[in-house]
Amino acid sequence: MVSIKSSILDQFGDALSAGAGQVLFRLEGTNMLLLFGLKTVLRPLRGRTATCQSCGLVVHHHLEERASKFTLFFIPVFTMSRSYRITCSNCGQVSAISARKKNALAR
Ligand SMILES: [Zn+2]
Repeated sequence: MVSIKSSILDQFGDALSAGAGQVLFRLEGTNMLLLFGLKTVLRPLRGRTATCQSCGLVVHHHLEERASKFTLFFIPVFTMSRSYRITCSNCGQVSAISARKKNALAR
């Protein structure tokens, strides 16, 4: 197999700073370049009316999914992790919730 050399090419320093969260590798013994990184994708989900733990009012809560995706040449290949956040529409209190709680809210 081809081993990946961690030396980053100096002439691509501009491209490295331009692509946020991206890493450029040169495959040892070849002229191939490999550009990979992580990208966070936010996706709004259907919220729900609930009692806020911070302000105590019964108001609508926004639900949001944050997915960390592994990218190869800026193209998302697969999802590495998912997390969910719920935000109170009255006071803006943000809480992280588990996937189980998210599924319970969707019912
Ligand atoms: Zn609140």
